[in-house]
Order: sequence, then C-alpha cells, then structure tokens
Amino acid sequence: MSSIAENLQRIKSEIPTDITLVAVSKTKPNAAVLEAYDAGQRDFGENYVQELVDKHEQLPKDIRWHFIGHLQSNKVKYIAPFVHLIHGVDSFKLLQEINKQGLKNNRVIDCLLQLYIAKEETKFGLLFEESEAILNSESFKALKNISIKGFMAMASNTDNSEQIKSEFLSVREFAREASSVFHLPFSTLSYGMSSDYKLALEAGSNMVRIGSTIFGERNYN
Ligand SMILES: *Cc1c(COP(=O)(O)O)cnc(C)c1O
Repeated sequence: MSSIAENLQRIKSEIPTDITLVAVSKTKPNAAVLEAYDAGQRDFGENYVQELVDKHEQLPKDIRWHFIGHLQSNKVKYIAPFVHLIHGVDSFKLLQEINKQGLKNNRVIDCLLQLYIAKEETKFGLLFEESEAILNSESFKALKNISIKGFMAMASNTDNSEQIKSEFLSVREFAREASSVFHLPFSTLSYGMSSDYKLALEAGSNMVRIGSTIFGERNYN
C-alpha cells in the first residue's frame, strides 16, 4: 500500500493546479491528517461536527476546514468560529442559522448550496428551482453574514460515466445561468469524489473532495 503522501502526490499530478483538492479526512485519526499536512495539504473536509471541532482544536491552525456533511441547524454554532467553507447547505433555514452565527462571530461564512442531481432518493440537496427560489428571495438578500460561493453536488452512484458526467454538467450550466441572473459570481463548483473526480474535472469541477483514495478505505462512513 502506498503512503498518504504518495497518494496525494499522485492525485495532484492528475489535477490542474487551479483545482482545489479537499482531502476528506472523516473518521481518520489526527496522525493521518498530519501526514497529509506535512506533505503540503491544507484543505481538509469533515462530515461530523464533533469530529471537526476536535480536529480543529488539536491540529495546526492554518488548516482550512471544509464542512462537507449534512449540517443540522442546532450544530452550526460549534463550527461557525472557524469553518472555511460549508458545502452542504440545503435549506433556507440552515442558511439563516449560519448567518446568525456568522454575525455572532463577526465574520462572513462562505457557503455552497448543495444541489440534488442524482437519480436516487437518498442524497440531500436542493432542486434547481428550490435553489433559485432561495437566491431570489428578499429574505436571502438580507443575510449579510453569509456568502454563497457556488454549488456542491454528488452524482448518482452508478458505473454509467455518461450519466455521471451529464449530472455534473447540469450543475455547471445552472451555476452559469445563476451567476448571470443574480449577478453573483458563483464560481466554486464542488463535485467529484474518489470514484468520479476525473469525470467531475471533465465536467468543469474546480473543487474535488477526495477521501479514500488518499487515506485508504474507511471502516464506516
Ligand atoms: C465521504 C465524502 C467524500 C469523499 O468520499 P471518497 O469516496 O472517500 O473520496 C466526498 N464528499 C462527501 C460529501 C463525502 O461525504
């Protein structure tokens, strides 16, 4: 088995330098994060609030922590002081809470709206029209302590690469339209994981979230 540093180096050689690689370290110990950190990695993704809070406390302070999981409103307060980017925003209620905690912490919290593109019942996210409705609303425009940087999505869990690619492309297309309609630069496109990041890059992703290919398989999710 190759080391974390070797895995990182291999992946980095495959992706253009202007693509942000988020190393998904959920369930992995601090030692694994540090190994990646020592190899130069600074963006890390976590799915669980308590785990993220612990790692933030214990690990180097120049790590940019991405929250990529499903975030419950009542837990926003724990990560609001330090989180770099919240990927999975899937309701206006959650956005309001992030804004409230941003205000309390005297900062603007960067977020991505999570879009539902998979042809499966299990994935979280907003439909394109739900996302549009949020961006259109006056109550959204009043939120000054959040900034929507773009969109996050997960493709269907399938071997059909054409389907995966077309799902990803629909996000890029939506982001283009939304940027022009709402006069906001929705420039961050977070899609692609271990199984599909190459397809994601072909379909315009500029932020990939890769876990098991860097850190090895997880025993649980
Ligand atoms: C776990 C997870 C990843 C990374 O998945 P791998 O298959 O291990 O690369 C990416 N994005 C989200 C939202 C995840 O929950």
